This record gives sequence, C-alpha cells and structure tokens, in this order.
Amino acid sequence: MKEDTLLLGFDIGGTKIALSLGDARGNIRASARIDNVDTTPEEVTPLMISMARKMVEESGASMHDVGAFGISSPGPADYRNGVMTHPTNNLKWHNVPIRQIVSDGLGLPGFFENDANCAMLAEWFFGAAKGAQDAIYLTMSTGIGAGIIAAGHLVTGRCGQAGEVGHVVLIPGGIKCNCGLSGCYEAYCGGKAIAARMRRELAETPDAAVVRFAGSLENVDMVALEKAVRIKDAYAVRLWDEIMRLNAQAIGGFINSLNPEKVVLGTFAWAIGDLFMEPLLRYVPQFAWREMLDVCDIVPSALKRDIGAYAGIAAALNGLYELGEFDLPR
Ligand SMILES: [Zn+2]
Repeated sequence: MKEDTLLLGFDIGGTKIALSLGDARGNIRASARIDNVDTTPEEVTPLMISMARKMVEESGASMHDVGAFGISSPGPADYRNGVMTHPTNNLKWHNVPIRQIVSDGLGLPGFFENDANCAMLAEWFFGAAKGAQDAIYLTMSTGIGAGIIAAGHLVTGRCGQAGEVGHVVLIPGGIKCNCGLSGCYEAYCGGKAIAARMRRELAETPDAAVVRFAGSLENVDMVALEKAVRIKDAYAVRLWDEIMRLNAQAIGGFINSLNPEKVVLGTFAWAIGDLFMEPLLRYVPQFAWREMLDVCDIVPSALKRDIGAYAGIAAALNGLYELGEFDLPR
C-alpha cells in the first residue's frame, strides 16, 4: 500500500455517524456527518455509502484511490463477522451486518472494531502512542473501556472482547454495575456512575457546591464536580481523591499486567488536565512496580476531541497492517 492511498472512516456514535477521508500519514482530507441515526439501518446505510462516495469525489479523488474503509462502533458486537448485534447506545440496530453492507456498497475491503480499540489504534498510528510496541488507551468518559496494543498488535481476545477494563472489579461487593457485576472500575470512575453517585449523596443538600455549579441536582456532572474541586469544596475534594485513588489502582494494575510503554488517557485526562493527571501520577506508584513505571509514559490523548475523525481510518489501516499490506510508521 502506498502512503498516499486513501482510507475511509466511519465513526458510529450514539447521536451521529462521522465520516472521514484520510491517508496513512494521518492527513484528514475531508469529513462529513450523518445526524439523526435514530432510524433504521435500511435508511442509514445507503446514506453512509452515498455520502462516502460523494466525499471521495468532492475531494478530487476517485474510489480507485481508496484502499479500504474502517468502522468504529460501540459494542457489544460480533467483531469477527462485522455485525452490530445489540449496541448499547440508542441505535435501533440489531444484528446488522454493517461491514458487509458497506463493503458491497463501496466495492472496498472493510474492517470493523469497537470504539475503544479504534481510539487506541488512532493514538497508535497518529497520536500519543506512535511507535510504541506496547500501549493501552483508556476512554475515561461516561464509561471506561480500553484498547490494548501488545507486542505490536491490537489485542482482541478469544471472542473479540479484550479491553473491557471498566468492568474489572476494584471493590468486591461494591456499587452494583450495569454489567451485572458489583464494584467495577466504571461503577466508581465512569462519568455516568459518578453523576449518579453525586445525585444520591447530595439529594438532601441542595446548597452543595456541586449542585450550585450544575444548576440543579439532576444536572450534576463531571464539569460541576471539577469546578467544586477547584474551589476546594470539602465534599468534592474528598470524592475526587477517592476517584483518583481508584483510577490509580486500576491503571497501576494494567501497568503491572502489560508493562506498557504508553498509557494514553481519553476525555477526562485532557479535559480536566492537571487536576486529573497530578493525583493519578502521585497515587499510581502505590499500585505498580517502579521498574515498570520508569519505562511508561502516562499521558492524555494527543488527538483529544478529534479522535473520532481518525477512529475508522485507524481501523482500516490496522486491518491492512494485519494483512501485511501496510508497514507501521516509525
Ligand atoms: Zn461492570
């Protein structure tokens, strides 16, 4: 594959599908989006195909210049066969063989990966983990998931579900998680779970700083929590310390498990910045061996909010890399 071969990416989210056209060097040539994905696959998939073709045409290229496409999708799904089985976002899509449909429509080979794996691949090809042989990316948003690179390859696991680190149990018998287990990492450190916890704990204290910053109890979120921590509100500081200690416990465990060169952290790490990174780096030596920490950079995402534009393209590149048609950038 030539470096200027184009790749098409589809990033299927909860409210939109982002399309992008880029090359193996990470230059994004064009992008587009489909809103209102709360419709049937029969309505949306033809649109994905026609918009992708139009995007290629309008960029002055032809479909012959495109090597492959990649689809980044929320799980769970049948990743081996490229089928969206029952995505947990609001898509009314069940058992949709999305990779085959798009492949037939575009006349291109395609690859399909979950969104956390695609974010890892995007950081690996184009961002903070470029050149690493061993790395982990954590989504750190409403939920927590991961993509793992080990010995220069994406780890997918026996049934394609490797990287579900948000459901590693940190506290046996702890908070009940949506997944059915109790005490999961995500049940303590995922944005949705933190908001739910604050709503429970602050129900009787409407004048709490977090509630004031949020405007109402229903609206408490990570932004309000961050503001309250910054003014050193006692409740917020205590909660934040507990959350960051648990983040360090989880991430330290992953470091001891994988001995990675890079740990790349998504949304909270770059959006909250030092307030997130400083306690994490302070606590993590309690949970990981010094010799592994010495060779590991724990850093926020380099691609930040643009990561979706690279997600599908990275899945396409990784597919070609695994087929031996693309060499890693060094
Ligand atoms: Zn869980």
